[in-house]
Amino acid sequence: MANRNVVTFHYTLRDPQGRLLDTSSGGQAISYLEGAGQIIDGLDEALRGVAAGVKQTVQVPAAKAYGEHDETQVQRVLKALLPVEGELKPGDQFRAGEDPFAPIVRVVSVEGDEVLLDANHPLAGLDLTFDVEVVSVREATEEELSHGHAHQGEGDGGCGSHDCGCKG
Ligand code: ZN
Repeated sequence: MANRNVVTFHYTLRDPQGRLLDTSSGGQAISYLEGAGQIIDGLDEALRGVAAGVKQTVQVPAAKAYGEHDETQVQRVLKALLPVEGELKPGDQFRAGEDPFAPIVRVVSVEGDEVLLDANHPLAGLDLTFDVEVVSVREATEEELSHGHAHQGEGDGGCGSHDCGCKG
């Protein structure tokens, strides 16, 4: 198998207006196995072959981030049919059904008896800018390659120490 790396990095994520959406700064750095779908495609591709210590700004178009905004995922429904109690307000999120895999929907607006719901990912349709600082790069272990994801670090027992659902 060709060499694949596990990359650990810090990031700050901004929307096209430069507003801060998310950051790992001050928290734990993110580790991922290259090409394994652990992070969004556009960022994975842009960081391929990157070296430790690199600071880079990566622009990721919506299509390679959380996808384009899909208008068919925006629906008007009767409030009485929703599995929620109490008042709803724009920005509220809830699972659209009893099924634990039911999509998370977001309230866009409340209009009388009706609610406009959006099942798109909150970042769908946004071109994203990541300020990335690469903390470390190392070759993936056999175990990581077979599991298809990065393990946290040496000496922590690999799998089992994180919630990856596979046997360590
Ligand atoms: Zn694992």
